[in-house]
Amino acid sequence: MNESLDQMTVNGGDVPAKDTFGVHNPATGRVFAQAPDCSPEQLDEALRAASDAFPLWREDIGARRAALLAAADRIEESAGDLAPLLTLEQGKPLADAHFEVMLTAMSLRATAALDVPREVIRDDETELIEVLHQPMGVVAVITPWNFPLTLAAVKCGPVLLAGNTVVLKPSPFTPLSTLALGVILRDVLPPGVLNVVSGRDPLGARLAEHPVPRKISFTGSTATGKRVAAAAAYDLKRLTLELGGNDAAILLDDVDLDAHADSLFWAAFVNCGQVCAAMKRLYVPRARYTEVVDALADRARSVKVGDGMLPDVQMGPLAIAPQFARVQELVSEALAGGATAAAGGGRLDGDGYFFAPTILRDIEDGARVVDEEQFGPVLPVIAYDDVEEALARANGTQYGLDGSVWSADADRAATLAARLECGTSWVNTHSMPTQGVPMGGHKWSGLGVEGALAGLLSSTETKVLHVVRGGNGTGIALS
Ligand code: NAD
Repeated sequence: MNESLDQMTVNGGDVPAKDTFGVHNPATGRVFAQAPDCSPEQLDEALRAASDAFPLWREDIGARRAALLAAADRIEESAGDLAPLLTLEQGKPLADAHFEVMLTAMSLRATAALDVPREVIRDDETELIEVLHQPMGVVAVITPWNFPLTLAAVKCGPVLLAGNTVVLKPSPFTPLSTLALGVILRDVLPPGVLNVVSGRDPLGARLAEHPVPRKISFTGSTATGKRVAAAAAYDLKRLTLELGGNDAAILLDDVDLDAHADSLFWAAFVNCGQVCAAMKRLYVPRARYTEVVDALADRARSVKVGDGMLPDVQMGPLAIAPQFARVQELVSEALAGGATAAAGGGRLDGDGYFFAPTILRDIEDGARVVDEEQFGPVLPVIAYDDVEEALARANGTQYGLDGSVWSADADRAATLAARLECGTSWVNTHSMPTQGVPMGGHKWSGLGVEGALAGLLSSTETKVLHVVRGGNGTGIALS
């Protein structure tokens, strides 16, 4: 790789940065690199490039599919460049960063296997009525800092396969791996099809408000998602919003803890708890409470936390300083309010944003760490007496991303799981990455879905082609 990986990609090439901003390594808390700060004129240029590339790109789905498959190969080949960048800017252990690179390629391949369906409603001697799913034009894709590469692929893949072109903007906290993605894909995607810009906010707002994109595909917090929706309202841009969650898990009284304790633990703590679909509240029958807390606390204490670039580290630091401060605040407040830390409970020594994996017990709904999305290595464990009461508490939130029920009787669990008010309900697992499945949030956790055919179609406009054959095209319904 001769090209520099930290450049913005516009129309297939570099655009020199007029200004830069610092990117922090969360393992040290210090700036380790500079990223380009996209100017308003450069954003216009990126959107113009995407507009210019659209007419040709929309023509041939076969070429688009081949390009996505080539992109997946290119990403895998570049894992040695992408994964360390991801660890340095985001904090996750290097093995997890490699896994994210592989998931990124897998997501593009799963998208490439989809097809835009041809739907014929009527085709006879009198008329042809066909439903077409046509691309929209330029789509603005805005991503958060927890899975910069995978989310870029999950969002851009279907948008591109549908025939749209993209301006992609990563979080200013983790711009480098996405910039690198833009650079390495320059030789497999035609110029202007995928443009990548980075910058401090208000770049995101500027992109969301810009008149060129016909759709905004956004993943991030609920608060920002609402701002994006307001910006989109002005010219009725289409929207996909994948937002925050506060996933509840309910253990039933017959759960096999030996079989599931590891899965339960990592469902809450993978990526240092910074997963939209992580388990964020755990409801446990009172009779099994101490046993469950102890099993989780044992695991929390044994996790090796450290700089993700070091071997054997299982959990890195929190990715960004504001999130580190927020997790400290939520946990301190819970402890001051009477909760007990069965494991962890505070920051770890050192300059980085390291927080001890924390299991909170003797805590109820109403504590902020239970009611709000904590998005960190913390799991409040809440006792319940009656399963209907646990379900009501799980559903008693504005969030509705995912949820899970755990039991030795999968059918019993599934009956309850179906009553969780959320986009995905799992049984005996949680936060399981699965290709080819639609994913989206209910209530304040999102709008629309990504993945599978439903996700692909959400990047298209539905249009009816109605051809009258013969002489009866009066425009008046005759029957
Ligand atoms: P965030 O909302 O702070 O930022 C997300 C992105 O929006 C960033 O790129 C940011 O620069 C940009 N942005 C900021 N203001 C904007 C504006 N006014 N208009 C347009 N863009 C703007 O979120 P975050 O802190 O980066 O990410 C964490 C959140 O993302 C959590 O709530 C998490 O649950 C959520 N998330 C959801 C999913 C999902 O699929 N539902 C997946 C991952 C993360």
